[in-house]
Order: sequence, then structure tokens, then C-alpha cells
Amino acid sequence: MREHISMLEGLGVEAVAVRRAEQLEGLDGLVFPGGESTTIARLLTTSGIRPVLADKLDQGFPVFGTCAGLILLSSAILDGRSDQWSFAALPVEVRRNGYGRQIASFETPVEVEGLGTVPGVFIRAPKIETWGSDVTVLAVHDHGDGDHPVFVRYGPVWGCSFHPELTNDDRIHRLFVESL
Ligand code: GLN
Repeated sequence: MREHISMLEGLGVEAVAVRRAEQLEGLDGLVFPGGESTTIARLLTTSGIRPVLADKLDQGFPVFGTCAGLILLSSAILDGRSDQWSFAALPVEVRRNGYGRQIASFETPVEVEGLGTVPGVFIRAPKIETWGSDVTVLAVHDHGDGDHPVFVRYGPVWGCSFHPELTNDDRIHRLFVESL
């Protein structure tokens, strides 16, 4: 969260950490950070953000989900907790911890459509297993089992399985900001 905010501020964007539903009003877009998707899901419910954000997503509110944020935007979660829900705003099926649980973190260069190579920091990342034909795949990574998308866009909804905010490379954030 903090890293996303400083990256956005570095791009000249005024960024606030959203903790209450009212704070969503008047925003141009939202970066949905990583963390533990089940914990974030619980906080979204207890804070009352869940129904407000669901409505906004229905109306085309731009949201960029990274890692757990991607899980929460997805249309289906594999290997999730049995009661785990998601906003279903991005037609992708993700596997929680799909790159492995044990040796789960790695860094690899990722070739992004139109941007070139960015550092991809994967931390217990979700793997996109299936995706709609209308989803734009902006980057893929082959972790030994063929190419899987790691950065996707579906209109105003963007998702990334890695953590661009944990690097010094702000081009992915810039791409999202410039789309707003
Ligand atoms: N593995 C986490 C989850 O399933 C996501 C990890 C992350 O956001 N870095 O919630």
C-alpha cells in the first residue's frame, strides 16, 4: 500500500489510502494492493467497502489489482478458501499461490507489451489459469509450464500477478494512470 502510494506520488498523482467506503467517492481510479486475499476480503466486508466498490466496478470504475488485488478482481479463484469471494470484474480464473507455496517468491524480467522489460517480483503470486478472449494480455511468463498471463487488462480493470510497486520501475503505474 505505502509503496503504491509513493510510486503514484512520484508520478504526480494525489493518492490516498482508502480505508472507508466514503473515501471511494471522487477518485479517478483505485490501485488494489497485494497482501493476503482472505484478510483483505474480510476488511472489505467489515469496512462496508465491498458493496460500494462492487457498484463502482459495475459502472466502469478503473481499478488496478496487484497480486491479492488481482485475486479479488477475478471471476474465479482456484485453491482458494471454500468461502472465498471475488468481485468478478476481470474475466480470469486465478490459482492462489499458483507459482508454489514453498519456494514461492522469485524475481524475473517480464516483457510488457509496449513498455519493454520490467522487473517482475512474484511473492506467493496467483497464477492466471484461464482468461476470456476479450481480455488483453499485456505480459506473459513461462514458469516451466508454458506461457501464463501475468499482466492483463479488461477495459478499465487491470490486473498483475507480480508487484511493480516493489521496484524502482514506475512504468506500469504510469500506464494505468495515463489511462484514467
Ligand atoms: N498468496 C496471497 C493470497 O492468496 C497473495 C500474495 C500477495 O499478494 N503477494 O492472498
